[in-house]
Amino acid sequence: MSRAEKIVIVGGGIAGMTAAAAIAGQGFAVTLLESAPAFGEIGAGVTLSPNAMKGLDFIGICEAVAAAGVEPTRQRIQHWEDGRTLVTMDRSTQREKYGAPYVTIHRADLHNLLTDAARTAGVDMRTNSVVVDSEGATAILDDGSRVAGDLLIGADGVKSIIRQRFEPTEPHFTGHVAWRALVPVTSELQEMSDFPGIIIGPGAMITRYNIRGSAAMNLVFFARQDGWTDDGWAIAADPSEIEAIYAGWCGDAQKLIEAACHQPMFKWAINARGALPDWIIDDNVTLIGDAAHAMTPFLGHGAACGIEDAVILARTLAASSDIAEGLSRYQAARHERATWIQSESNANADRMQGQDADMFGIGKAKDEESLGLFNYDCRLEPV
Ligand SMILES: Cc1cc2nc3c(=O)[nH]c(=O)nc-3n(C[C@H](O)[C@H](O)[C@H](O)COP(=O)(O)OP(=O)(O)OC[C@H]3O[C@@H](n4cnc5c(N)ncnc54)[C@H](O)[C@@H]3O)c2cc1C
Repeated sequence: MSRAEKIVIVGGGIAGMTAAAAIAGQGFAVTLLESAPAFGEIGAGVTLSPNAMKGLDFIGICEAVAAAGVEPTRQRIQHWEDGRTLVTMDRSTQREKYGAPYVTIHRADLHNLLTDAARTAGVDMRTNSVVVDSEGATAILDDGSRVAGDLLIGADGVKSIIRQRFEPTEPHFTGHVAWRALVPVTSELQEMSDFPGIIIGPGAMITRYNIRGSAAMNLVFFARQDGWTDDGWAIAADPSEIEAIYAGWCGDAQKLIEAACHQPMFKWAINARGALPDWIIDDNVTLIGDAAHAMTPFLGHGAACGIEDAVILARTLAASSDIAEGLSRYQAARHERATWIQSESNANADRMQGQDADMFGIGKAKDEESLGLFNYDCRLEPV
């Protein structure tokens, strides 16, 4: 395909920034439009499984991301009532098994490296660019200006404006709420930092993993909730809410709650999207990341899927004779996997937050590794 084609990406989150670096790396002229005044990410952690890290290798930052993050050697699943270990996951041989590491990292550290990669690849990066509409492959900004492209990529997240062209519906509340906090690793938390993991119980669970040289831990307290009536999707949280939800949980859970209550904590509505049957309009508009397939976080794979989308799209565009062919090959390569992971994420919520934690791990536990998600290699997948 001619490299004269102009590619416009709406949204500079993990998916959009990876796509910008990957597509510009194939020689295309890429403009990235981000509504925020500065590029960045929220103050929380993210897990990057080996399949995601292979995507980051495609844009040349796998080892830099691994160095900025933490590679856990083991993780465990604990019982809510007495804290006993139900299942242990060996993460010590991820590089050998999958050809890439398993990394936990602060989102801002990841995003800085993605932004550097996009800048180095020559992307025209524009902040304060709020896209309010689009026509064909042209983005229309809130000041009335237009950015014309030959291909428009919606990477604008779960509330995507570009997705409105595919289906004029809003995201739905999934019935899950997450309270997030970053805590320093004190001597009280050292043992839990040395052996990170998830504490599971009826209708709720607590995830913890290390970031920033294991000096800090990312905590996420998940619980089911009937509805969401708060104003906005992310609000400052009242610690008494999690104290009430996790009353009666084990000593490890209480230590995590105590630590979280001394840090800024935010409460998030987990919103998602249904599967979209078609990701292409008029042979020149498509979607990636949460805009295409926002999912619940119970397999830790939303960002990973966005990274995979980005690399596959860069490869299909580079390998095709025109944009229409590139998009068609992108959809053929990605749609089934992303839709399947969306549905498995929901199923995993039920597996992890089942009514009877004693039954967990009896028989073969299904998780992101045993489902085979780590084997996928977006650098080599046939397109
Ligand atoms: C509690 C929780 C834990 C998670 N943990 C993990 C995990 O461990 N591993 C994992 O892989 N995934 C995880 N996820 C999922 C992951 O966070 C998301 O899938 C991922 O961040 C989505 O990236 P994105 O770039 O598609 O969208 P976003 O991050 O939403 O980025 C969209 C970007 O577009 C910009 N934008 C929006 N609208 C416009 C507009 N109109 N004009 C211009 N710009 C616009 C936004 O400002 C933003 O920068 C988790 C999610 C949650 C809620």
